[in-house]
Amino acid sequence: MSTAHSITRRAADALRADVTGRVFLPGDLGYDQARQTWMLTVNQRPAMVVEAASTADVAAAVRFARSYGLRIAPQGTGHGAAPLEPLESALLLRTSRLRGVRIDPDTRTVRAAAGALWQDVAVPASDHGLAGLAGTSRDVGVTGYTLGGGIGWLARRYGLAANSVTAAELVTPTGQLVHADLEHEPDLFWALCGGGGSVGVVTALEILLYPVTELYAGVLFFPVQRAADVLNSWREWTTSVPDEVTSIGRIVRIPPLPTVPNQLRGRAFALVEAAYVGEKGAGADLIAPLRKLGPEIDTFATIPASALSQLHMDPTEPVAAVGDGTLLTDFPAAAADALVGLAGADADTMLISIEVRHLDGALRRPEADGSALPSIDASYALYGSGVAAAPEAVATVAEHAQALKAALAPWHANYSFYNLADTPAPAQALLPPEAYQRLKQIKTSYDPDDAIISAHPV
Ligand SMILES: Cc1cc2nc3c(=O)[nH]c(=O)nc-3n(C[C@H](O)[C@H](O)[C@H](O)COP(=O)(O)OP(=O)(O)OC[C@H]3O[C@@H](n4cnc5c(N)ncnc54)[C@H](O)[C@@H]3O)c2cc1C
Repeated sequence: MSTAHSITRRAADALRADVTGRVFLPGDLGYDQARQTWMLTVNQRPAMVVEAASTADVAAAVRFARSYGLRIAPQGTGHGAAPLEPLESALLLRTSRLRGVRIDPDTRTVRAAAGALWQDVAVPASDHGLAGLAGTSRDVGVTGYTLGGGIGWLARRYGLAANSVTAAELVTPTGQLVHADLEHEPDLFWALCGGGGSVGVVTALEILLYPVTELYAGVLFFPVQRAADVLNSWREWTTSVPDEVTSIGRIVRIPPLPTVPNQLRGRAFALVEAAYVGEKGAGADLIAPLRKLGPEIDTFATIPASALSQLHMDPTEPVAAVGDGTLLTDFPAAAADALVGLAGADADTMLISIEVRHLDGALRRPEADGSALPSIDASYALYGSGVAAAPEAVATVAEHAQALKAALAPWHANYSFYNLADTPAPAQALLPPEAYQRLKQIKTSYDPDDAIISAHPV
């Protein structure tokens, strides 16, 4: 494979003439902006950046990279950039300009171009009384999130986003544009659904939408001193709720920013966040045992599906975040206590958010047609993150995230989850063993030179 030095200005100019998007080499004006990711702690320095403006640009960039011996790293927002390997010998293929979204209310599907964000889908889908299986954040990319599985607020009711993909359009490592679904290129389709993006550069996904217009959803805020009581009550409660309820038990330390409301600013809380696909009356009955604990703030109300992206209070601007997570087989009292020991009121931690997501429900039921990740064989997911205000703080925040994971090691599942693994990890650590073996065969067959770099290598 070539290094950055082998891409001459003349070669870059030839590519520029071939694409409608933009091409940058190190040193070019605009290179630093083009290589920037949502995760401000990531400092990727690719040999070249192409900001594709069309599917044809993606194909041209792939062919160019292959002819110059560069590997190819597809990227939309860069929310998932933390685990990526160094890109010095790679062409970074940004899809962030490809944001087109087309809703088909008859088939209840959306066709989302590779760079579309979930907010691009949520609003037009809601005009048709439909919702997609978005995650907690409105500006995470549909493509990266979905290829990695995708666990959102409707997950216990409708499963992983990856298992709602009906078709994908991608440029293969040889530069061919292909359509993949259950009948055409079924191996590629299988590998993309939950297996990450290692077999090509996706240019669009077609995904099912669901008839969800409103939900009963909200957050209960308790002072962090009550974390043990709240997390233990929440975890017991999760064992009895129907699949229509997806919820998160969480400890947060809210920064003292002027933009934060007075009541929250600079304080720490134990939270229960939940979304119920159903009506207010039944939702209030379900939440009642947690309400009885006497939250300081209670935001539960009937909300439109498009407002779900505000429930988790994810940052909307790029952040110098450091985090990591994994899957848990269970979250018993001892696990909750271990978590509170590391993140409760008296803890000395740089993590500002520690969350446990309740899984099971539809996430546990294997999809009939199969995908690289047909179901999740774990009942909870753990994720902890902090902000590194200065580069020197990155290592300390990372240590705290690893300490959190280690404290819950007795309950780790056999494999982790693609989208939550922010430290470099091979795909082998993130998929069931049989799925990984098949993914490896497909990768070898379609990409024998390992030209496509994915967040977690195969
Ligand atoms: C604030 C925040 C909230 C999150 N919430 C959730 C959540 O609720 N549920 C959940 O499951 N995950 C969640 N995640 C994790 C998120 O889903 C992953 O980081 C995901 O990879 C982001 O996708 P992206 O396209 O935005 O990121 P990118 O960094 O652009 O892409 C991530 C990876 O996806 C692959 N990829 C992207 N585009 C293509 C393409 N066109 N072709 C082939 N491969 C491609 C590449 O391997 C790339 O490295 C969250 C992350 C953050 C930072």
